[in-house]
Amino acid sequence: MAGTPFRSPGLVCAHHHLYSALARGMPAPPSRPTDFRSILEQVWWRLDRALDLEMLEWSAKLGALEALGAGCTAIIDHHESPNAIEGSLDVIAAACAEVGVRVSCAYGVTDRHGHAAALVGLAENERFLAGGGRGMVGVHAAFTCSDDTLAAAAELAAAHDVGVHIHVAEGVDDVDAPARLGDLTTDRWLLIHGVHLADDHGLRGTIVHNPRSNMNNAVGYARPTRFVNPVALGTDGIGADMFDEFRLAFVRHRESDVEASPETAWAWLEQGWKLFPEAMHDSVTWSHPTLDPWHLAYTTTVNAVDVDIDGDAVLRGGVPTRVDAGEVRARAAEQSVRLFRALEDMP
Ligand SMILES: [Zn+2]
Repeated sequence: MAGTPFRSPGLVCAHHHLYSALARGMPAPPSRPTDFRSILEQVWWRLDRALDLEMLEWSAKLGALEALGAGCTAIIDHHESPNAIEGSLDVIAAACAEVGVRVSCAYGVTDRHGHAAALVGLAENERFLAGGGRGMVGVHAAFTCSDDTLAAAAELAAAHDVGVHIHVAEGVDDVDAPARLGDLTTDRWLLIHGVHLADDHGLRGTIVHNPRSNMNNAVGYARPTRFVNPVALGTDGIGADMFDEFRLAFVRHRESDVEASPETAWAWLEQGWKLFPEAMHDSVTWSHPTLDPWHLAYTTTVNAVDVDIDGDAVLRGGVPTRVDAGEVRARAAEQSVRLFRALEDMP
């Protein structure tokens, strides 16, 4: 009905990194990255080493606040802070609870800081899940893990009846991921990116497509329609505006196939509800009178006006009710100053 604000369930971001909300405007890296591997080494792997739990708390609150304004009520987060591992998933869960957004937490285990650090990461996943936390077992990616670590993560996930949340074949460094993971994966796994997977890769799980991130890192187009796996949409840490990610997913699909319909990317967005069904109990009133995919694909600004999560009014008239948005932004800005100083001091 034209003119009447439209309501929907809450949207789901199937892959986020709430720790990166403070990274915007960060100091330039010591040397200019020239490929995906050096983007990881020069940007993201320096950022995660610089994080402490106080920075993480405000980064997660800022990220949750931005999700709320975009009608995203459920975030599937993937976290790494190698110098502040223990307790990090509690910090993220508490920050999201304070804002009122649902979150599934996972610590991205990796051997790139040595096997002892991988064990601490596994222990953080175990501690959080054993304590009743909503989450998965996180793994950074096969190419930074030993076979033992991958097997241990799969075993831990099975023991807690959850899946593994892992980056797969985002760049060419990880092309042997299917050979390494093949026997371990289950339908509950989240396979993030899959850009360099073969069409018949044989892995089980949901592939999470992150079109903006893939373009930003120049890793190529995942062409998700070629997979038999279910496909969902994530932002890979660049906000949680899922309508925006849907629009990008559509035009990227369209760029490769002029007959592509936005209904395909819309189905990927809807797949998020299979991964985080609780979001179906949430309600978002939008600033736009329809959510027809052909309409939304060409409407570049649609905001959440009111959001109710599990019956609680957490956004009214675009304003968060649980937290003072101005204070969250101010405290996050203070923490980004600390973060940037830590990055400048890092060798
Ligand atoms: Zn990611």
